[in-house]
Order: sequence, then structure tokens, then C-alpha cells
Amino acid sequence: MADGGSAAGADDVTLDPWGSASVDDYRKLFEQFGIEAFDDVLPQVPNPHYLMRRGVVFGHRDYGPIADAMANDDPFAVLSGWMPTGDPHIGHKLMIEEIVYHQQQGGDAYALVADLEANSARGLSWAEIDRHTEEYLLSLLALGFDPEEGEIYRQSGNERLQNLAFELGAEANFSEMQALYGFDGETNISHMQSVVTQMADILYPQLDEPKPTVIPVGPDQDPHMRFARDLADRTRYFGVTEAYASFEADPAERVLIRAAYDAIDDDDIRCEDAADYLREHHADEAGTSVLPKLDNAGKEPIRPRVRFLDRNATDEAFEALIDAIDGEKRVFEGHVDTFDLDADAAEELAREVELGHGGYGFIAPSSIYNRFMTGLTGGKMSSSIPASHISLLDDPEDGYDKVKSATTGGRTSAKEQRELGGKADECPVYELYTYLLAGEDDEFATEVYEECVGGERLCGGCKEQAAELMAEFLEDHQEKREEMRPVLEELDIDIESPWRR
Ligand code: SF4
Repeated sequence: MADGGSAAGADDVTLDPWGSASVDDYRKLFEQFGIEAFDDVLPQVPNPHYLMRRGVVFGHRDYGPIADAMANDDPFAVLSGWMPTGDPHIGHKLMIEEIVYHQQQGGDAYALVADLEANSARGLSWAEIDRHTEEYLLSLLALGFDPEEGEIYRQSGNERLQNLAFELGAEANFSEMQALYGFDGETNISHMQSVVTQMADILYPQLDEPKPTVIPVGPDQDPHMRFARDLADRTRYFGVTEAYASFEADPAERVLIRAAYDAIDDDDIRCEDAADYLREHHADEAGTSVLPKLDNAGKEPIRPRVRFLDRNATDEAFEALIDAIDGEKRVFEGHVDTFDLDADAAEELAREVELGHGGYGFIAPSSIYNRFMTGLTGGKMSSSIPASHISLLDDPEDGYDKVKSATTGGRTSAKEQRELGGKADECPVYELYTYLLAGEDDEFATEVYEECVGGERLCGGCKEQAAELMAEFLEDHQEKREEMRPVLEELDIDIESPWRR
């Protein structure tokens, strides 16, 4: 299954939620899919996690509202989940840490087990799924998730989630899934259902109250984020847009009309004046699209306004919205224009009326994206190659041995390494330090890097240190997992599922 349409060319990045994940060039994700660089929003984050500070979290969609909520103590939520198809490993630890971090920063935290997806997309038996579920949840608790404050659920046991999935399914169709995921006539129906279930997962934290929600994911999961943001939008009763005259314009057309409005600088500007201006100054862009609309509107004055579009509202809700708008307004078939509200106030009003009339009022979910970890043997980290990754259940001695046998970014001889320095940026062992072993200690991570590239650090000693730290981490983590067994037993979650296949 491929994301982004089957039209992906040789230079395109393909994102496949169920494929084996790797991304060679993260910058392409910014250009191709509109993922934004995390560095741009980092200064707004009050107390950034070390994975954010070190660039492991490299991208985001719309993280600004989450950063604002943290700074202002406003409600927000975090949700992530795992498909229980194998043992939890150090890659999963990153996601868990990001949930725990947001929980500690005041967010409502949700951790889900994507068991329906594991069964339908990967074909695992329920007995296997149950076993992996228990292992994931023990690591989740051992890594600091607070189950008293947060919610843990299995997709298969959550009726509210499944009801929401059913409703969202009414907004989605097969052609979209085909374009987004490459589904075809052979795709089983449960797999399609598992997609809408994941859409419901992403919006689940907002079922009781709309709030900014962040989903930490790998970039391969971005198709789900785009689809969920779309579906959230489609369920809304009202759309809120800027407008300049009574006709509808798309976002690109609005930019042109705004440019004409700003350039002409006359209180009495008419649509025909804007058309003349655009013909003269922006003929290429304005072309066939906006000019006919402006010509058609002729002498109608151009006046900036905020427009409420009736999308899914009942007649009653639309009437209630009209009544609730203070100040000058104009009511048209299917939309209302308002001249005294700014866009934020209009959004708030639209959501308030929607919630008052039985709608969800969803806020488009945000996401943050982690870099993939390189496998210890070089190439991709893969659950099917045990030496390439470290399971959180690995015996500490095995963890030690795997790190000791890892590929490095070292030179061919100690002499060369002293002269040229190591290639830390290409070294899976250095990744282990930054992603995990250095923990909160930025100074230590920097020291390893500088000593490596400066030629003071040689790979033998560096790996020994990393291997010892890994063994310590595994020992400590596994002790905590054991302590969490009675806590897990007390939780309202069935480890043994009643499903059979
Ligand atoms: Fe990697 Fe350490 Fe060798 Fe540098 S010294 S290349 S960080 S193993």
C-alpha cells in the first residue's frame, strides 16, 4: 500500500503506514506533504523534551496550539498507540516518552492498543495480540504513564470509539482510501474498517470536549493524520473563511483579491476595479479563475468579512448561528457574512453553536514526527531482524552484546579516527546516545558527539560505554515492568480478548 497516490515518482517519498518504514530525505516531507520543521515551533514550547531539543522530533503539523495550551495551562490532549504485532522495542520507547512528557505537561493522555488493526491488516491471531498487548502495557506503565490520570484502551473493547468510527466512516469513501493507501479490490473490509477506527482513535480525546490534541507518530503514519484532519473538518457544521464579496472564492483566489484590495487602497473599491488591477499586475495567476467572478460581480463593493458556510448544520443550528452573530451581518443561501467579528471569534462562535446543537466541534488534530532509528546492523531497524534492534524485553546481557556488535561511523583504523574524527552523524551507536542513553543530559550527548568528530573518542571504548548503559537501562526497565504487573491487573482493561479468529 502506498500513500500519496500511485503517482509517486522516483524523487517522491512514499509513506506507507503498513509498509517497512524508512525515509531517506526528511526535507522532502516538508515540501511534498506540508509537514513543517519542528525547529520553527520549538521556541514556543515551554519545557521541550530532550527528543525535541535534539531534533529526533523533526517535524510537526499544527503543533502551535499545543505549545500555546502548555504555556497557558489550557486543556489539551495527547494520544498515541501501538499495533501489538511484536515485542515493544526502543523505537516504541520514544513514542511512550512523548505521551508521558505531554501528560506531565498537563495534557489528558491516551494510550491505545491498535488490536483491530493488528488483526485485520497484519493477520495476527487474537492469542498473539493479547500476549503482545500485555507486554506493551507493562512497558508503557514502567516508562511513567499515569493510568489514574490518563486512559488506556484497546480498540476492540471500546464501544464509544467504534460508534465514532461508524460515524466517521459515513464521511469517507473507497476512492479516498485507494488514493491515500493504495487499497484495491483485494483489500479486506476489516482493513478499511480499521482505518476509520484509527481516524476515530485520533479524534477520540475530543469526544467529551473539543481540545487541541497532538498525536506523536512516525512519518509513515502521516497519511492517517491528513485523513483524520480532513474528516474532522468534514464533520463540522460550519466552515469559517475570509471573504471579500458575496461570491465564493478558493484560498488562492482570496489571496489575489486581498492583494488587489491592499494595492488599490480606496474605501470604495469595486469588484471590477480589482479585476482591472489583477489583469494588469497578476494576469498569469488570476487567469481564468478569479477574473470571471470579479467581472460578474461588477460594481459590488469589496469589503473584507468573515464568512460562515453551512456545511452539515441543521436548519435550527443555522438559524441559531445567525441569531448569535452580533453586529452587521448578511444572510445568503448557505452562508452568512459578518463584518464585526475576527476569524478567531468566528471560529469560537461556530464551535459553540455546533456543540449546543449536538455536533462534535472537532479541532483538527496536530501531530509531531520522529525520525526513524537506524538499525544496529546498519540500514533499517526491523523487528524481523533481532540484531538490528533492541527489544525492551531483551536480556540485559543480550542488549549489551547487540550494542557491542553494532555498526559504527568509525574510520578504518584508530590512527585515521584520531586524525579525521568519527562520523557520528552516520553512527547507530551515536543515535543510541541521543535517542536514549544520554537521557536528559544534553551535555553528555554533546560531549560524545564532539569527542567523536574531534577524534578523541574511539569506537571500542564508545561502544563499551554505550553497551553498559544499555544493559543498565534494560535491567532497570525490566524491574519496573515487574513492579507494574499488579498495577496492570487492577486496570479496567481486558488482556484476554473475547474475539477469535
Ligand atoms: Fe560512533 Fe562512538 Fe565510533 Fe563515534 S566513536 S563513530 S559515536 S561508535
